[in-house]
Parts: sequence; C-alpha cells; structure tokens
Amino acid sequence: MRHLKGSDERVYRAVLGEASRQRGQLEMIASENFVSPAVREALGTVFTHKYAEGLPGRRYYGGCEFADQVEELARTRATELFGADHANVQPHSGAQANMAGYFAFLDPGDRILGMNLSHGGHLTHGSPVNFSGRFFEVSAYGVRESDARIDYDEVRETALRARPKMIVTGASAYPRTIEFEAFGAIAREVGAIHLCDLAHIAGLVAGGHHPSPVPHADVVTTTTHKTLRGPRGGLVMCREEHAKAIDRMVFPFIQGGPLVHVIASKAVALGEALSPGFRVYGRRVVENARLLADTLMGRGVRLVSGGTDNHLILVDLRDRDLTGKDAEQALERAGITVNKNTVPGETRSPFVTSGLRIGTPAITTRGIGPEEIRTIGGWIADILERPRDEDGIRRVRRQVGEMCAAYPLYDQLASST
Ligand SMILES: *Cc1c(COP(=O)(O)O)cnc(C)c1O
Repeated sequence: MRHLKGSDERVYRAVLGEASRQRGQLEMIASENFVSPAVREALGTVFTHKYAEGLPGRRYYGGCEFADQVEELARTRATELFGADHANVQPHSGAQANMAGYFAFLDPGDRILGMNLSHGGHLTHGSPVNFSGRFFEVSAYGVRESDARIDYDEVRETALRARPKMIVTGASAYPRTIEFEAFGAIAREVGAIHLCDLAHIAGLVAGGHHPSPVPHADVVTTTTHKTLRGPRGGLVMCREEHAKAIDRMVFPFIQGGPLVHVIASKAVALGEALSPGFRVYGRRVVENARLLADTLMGRGVRLVSGGTDNHLILVDLRDRDLTGKDAEQALERAGITVNKNTVPGETRSPFVTSGLRIGTPAITTRGIGPEEIRTIGGWIADILERPRDEDGIRRVRRQVGEMCAAYPLYDQLASST
C-alpha cells in the first residue's frame, strides 16, 4: 500500500484499521467470508479501467479482448460448478441479480410469493422498504410455529390461493435445509416461475452439502461473496430458454458497464470453488456450525428450530432478559462479531430484535476447527449468561486475541493490503 500511504493518509489508516480489526476478532457474521489472496489480487487489477458494456464477443466498446477472456472464464466456471445452462456474471450485487431475475419475467403489479423477512427471508423478497415490495404485489410464506421449519403444505395452500406469477425461494436466516424440489413442484402446479436466491448457501450447494436448486428452478440468483468465498457481487443462472431475457435485464435494463475487475475476481473464486479443497471447506463449515449449535444448546441456549443443517444458527433470546442488540454489542466487546436478527414471531423492532445470527464460513476459512468451536461456544454461552460482566468480557477478549494469533489471517496484509 505504499502508494496509498503516500497519497492519502486518511484512507490508508482506515484500511490498516480494518485489516487489524479483521485479524484480531472472530468473524461470525453468517454472510461474510475471507477471500484468497488471488481473489483479492484480481480485484486490484487494471481491469478496473475498462468499459465492457455488452457480452463477450458482442461489446459496445473496443479493446475488450482480455475482458472477454475473463468474463468467458467466469461464465463457464459458474455453469460447470452449478450444472446450469447459462450464467450472467455481471450483476454488481445480490440485490441486482434478483432485480434482473424479477424483471425478466414480471411486470410492475405482478404478484410474487416470498419468504417473510422476519422468518428468515431477504429484503429483496418483497419487503415494503425495498424495490421488490414497491413494484410487486407480495404474498409471504413463513415457518411453522412448532418447529420453525418451512411448512411445504402451507406454502402450497398459500400459492394456490395467491396465484403468484413467481415464487421466490432462498433465505438469509434459515438454518435448515430448503427443499427446492418441493418448491419447484408447487411452482409448476400453480404455473409460477421459480426463482431461487441461493445467496447464503451457494458455496454449500457448490460443494455438495445442500441440495441444488438448479434442476428445480427457472432462475437461480446468488451473491458471490458469502459461502462461495468470492469478491462482493452477484450472479444469475438460468435455463437456456431464459438466457436472452436474463442477459437483457442485467444490461442494459438495470446496469451499465460491468465491473470487469470484479468479474476477473469472480472467475478466480469460481475456479477455486471447482477444486476438491472447496468441498472439504464446505464440509467443515457445516460441521463447525453443527458443533457450535450442540455446544450452545448443551449450555441451555435456545436455538430457532433446535439446531442447524447449514452454516448458520439463530439464537432465540426470548427466554432471557437480553435483546439481540445488547447481545451483539456484548459479544463485539469480547471480539466475537455477529449480528442481531429477528426470530420467527418477533415482537421487537429490527433495530433491537430477540435473536442473534451466528455463522461459521469466515472462521472456518481461517482454519478454526472442532476444538476451537467448543471453546468459542463456551465463550458465547458465558457472555449470554452474563452480558454485563465487563471483567468476564475482557477475559474472553484476551483469549479471542490469542486464538486469532494462532490462526493468522493474511500475514501479508501489513505490507500489501
Ligand atoms: C445477502 C443476500 C442478498 C443481497 O446481496 P447484496 O450483495 O447485499 O445485494 C440477497 N438475497 C439473499 C437471500 C441474501 O442473503
């Protein structure tokens, strides 16, 4: 970073501060991860200079020979990894991938059926504060009260009643396996398009640790930066018959020029995800989450749905005198970064909440294994029991620092961030 250091001291210091923050705490936000040095290096390349509106071989600008090469690599790697017919790797984010998926099939005023936000859905699945809730009529499905799982019979009844033009599947805070096949059957029965938003679990699907939606969905959108462990960005995949409609929505309908440096980085990440090591990584993520769930439940911590099948757990704090907000802050003081989250049947505001979402993708990338997970689970349980014990929190903070030092993140960061 010698250039930045010399030219913009304030930005340089902020980057150093962030690097040190990431190094010294346990990153347990379920939607975050650490990319490889190669993925990060691609982000800082000269491709950031390039305009490449259009698609490989059909650009609106000259000089796209090498942009074509990286985009073609990213596209073919994505289709190979997920077994999809077609991929568009240009969406700048998951939200924009969803927007492209929606507008390829829907007109304003059409009805979508998505998962209730407070039951684990995403803002882009029909929230009134998001474009999806503004442009479309929204019906929602949720989880059963008894076991906090999606009730597919109820989804079917809701779909038969609401007759949505599109059913949106996928979630941001659902710790259980999603039966995409059942959703696909319901969508066919009611004549709806099935759009699966794979954002959180894309890496688990790629590694074979969660059933794939690809055979059961018309369109699959995802982020590339969560369990897939790539740069921040989005991706849309679809069957060949929808390829043109999807491509036209990404550009020119929603976006202008693609971020070619990010596409180059997506290509690198997708290449990594095709390697055998990525399958092992995904298995460890799931094993770590399960062990964390068992450790916490062994200490009397309540989890939504009583456990997990994937990379995240949802702590239910409703039996305690503690809000999600306060729990998040106490854990942050202890060097464990998580986020407050609504729980099904939530009564508090989204800024306060009665839950915590905790994920294992990032710490697993760092090398954390079962032994450390038991220790971390113990720390979290201690803090949830005594969130106002500042001495105890300081003690955990020290131990977290030692654990982080034992699993160094980017030794090269200091010199080359
Ligand atoms: C994270 C997420 C998104 C949004 O991704 P951004 O890149 O933040 O726009 C969309 N859908 C789901 C299910 C997500 O979890």
